[in-house]
Amino acid sequence: MKFTDFNLKDTILAAVTEAGFKEPSPVQKDAIPLVLEGHDMIAQAQTGTGKTAAFGLPIMSMMKADGSVEGLVIVPTRELAMQVSDELFRFGKLSGLKTATVYGGTAYGKQIERIKQASIVVATPGRLQDLLMSGKIKLNPHFVVLDEADEMLDMGFLDEIKNIFTFLPKERQTLMFSATMPKGIRRLAEEILNDPKTVSITKSESTNSNITQYYYVVQERERDDALVRLIDYKNPDKCIIFCRMKKEVDRLVAHLTAQGFKVSGLHGDMEQKQREVTIRAFKQGGIDIFIATDVAARGLDVNDVTHVFNYHIPFDSESYVHRIGRTGRGGKSGEAITLVSPNELRTIKRIEKDVGAKLITQVIPTRIEVQNNRNDALIARIADTQITDKAIELVKTLQHDLDIVTIAHLLASMVQSEISVKGKDNIGLGLEEVELLIERAMQNRGGGGGGRNNRGRGGYRGNNRRRSGGGDRNKHGRNGRSGRNGGHGSNRG
Ligand code: ADP
Ligand code: MG
Repeated sequence: MKFTDFNLKDTILAAVTEAGFKEPSPVQKDAIPLVLEGHDMIAQAQTGTGKTAAFGLPIMSMMKADGSVEGLVIVPTRELAMQVSDELFRFGKLSGLKTATVYGGTAYGKQIERIKQASIVVATPGRLQDLLMSGKIKLNPHFVVLDEADEMLDMGFLDEIKNIFTFLPKERQTLMFSATMPKGIRRLAEEILNDPKTVSITKSESTNSNITQYYYVVQERERDDALVRLIDYKNPDKCIIFCRMKKEVDRLVAHLTAQGFKVSGLHGDMEQKQREVTIRAFKQGGIDIFIATDVAARGLDVNDVTHVFNYHIPFDSESYVHRIGRTGRGGKSGEAITLVSPNELRTIKRIEKDVGAKLITQVIPTRIEVQNNRNDALIARIADTQITDKAIELVKTLQHDLDIVTIAHLLASMVQSEISVKGKDNIGLGLEEVELLIERAMQNRGGGGGGRNNRGRGGYRGNNRRRSGGGDRNKHGRNGRSGRNGGHGSNRG
């Protein structure tokens, strides 16, 4: 199926082509025709499935661009407001459709001016309610969209939303989008939608198959080491690490910064300006690693995230899907990596079942494995390097005192030291051990006495580890990391 199969306006289609969209996503396939037929709709699909275009393209295609506000999109946060409005602007600009963004924390005047020129207003509930109640603006939009409706209810915006609808025309087309469908959402839908069509993209369709999902079983105290080792091994261009709590975010930011990574934290109580600056830096590559809580990262649309790490397993399957949906966006491939303690094996198995996708168990690479990888990369890089005149001069100078082989060895030692991998040799549990633990965890399911048997087996570090290697306690100073932003050469190619 192609976008040209829908009955969209030419200027909208041209914008879709310009945006580089080749094929409609599942939610777009289902939603666009229904919206074009004029139905109210309630749609469930996970984040990153292209919901903005699913409502944006058809409503914009039906707009007259007559200078009035024809569409109102309500979103939970200021960030989402900006994201959605950017995306809608792209779709609408060839059709002469302007967007205005309305959110709290900034002056009213400018926003009101923008609204007067806009065809579409993208707003957060609080500020929108303010503007409507104070009579500063009047809106008469034919299209009303509630985006990330479940998130808005979670944030406690139900009253605001209901109130806002009292200011909106009865004759309208209303669309509701939500990643989940709890009771509160259904009740709200009954109230504001008129004979709606339902679109639901089932889990297997929405668990993006571009994402390869791994989990690693580690002891509680090994989480930090495991995380650093995996980052070293995967060498992600851009990754997000999810934590459960804000204080864990802060602690990990400090820890990884000390290791020389370019890290920033993202949490709910950060100042808005600072959040925006941070997100921009992440998008543009000044920051490689984002550490965030679920709430802080909800709806965050950053392309090119190559890896998502779950430092802790999330509390439920839905959060898991949300989290990993930050990668593998826009048709690119991504990896989701979850650290799991032996006690959490049952939870990860449940998540695996819920999401209907295979989670692959792996053993954390040893220090030697990572080192070998880096050596291979280094060799490839050396082979690829262009010889410069300055280098030739330098070697000539060195040859006054040293023979050519010694010079080569010295230079190699220099670059080699920059790619050395720190940390313990072995981290985490071996495969056989994990299999055994899973078997037992599943057997003990629900059994009262099971917990006892699970503990103190002392065999976690036992013989059935895949690898031997006794250097476990061999602690290296971890500050001597190099090859990141430490001033000398980078190993990132
Ligand atoms: P959601 O609202 O479901 O979380 P978005 O609407 O934010 O998802 O879309 C996620 C990303 O995917 C955006 O960067 C968007 O530009 C891109 N995208 C949406 N639809 C398509 C498509 N059909 N083909 C390629 N990329 C798309
Ligand atoms: Mg969205």
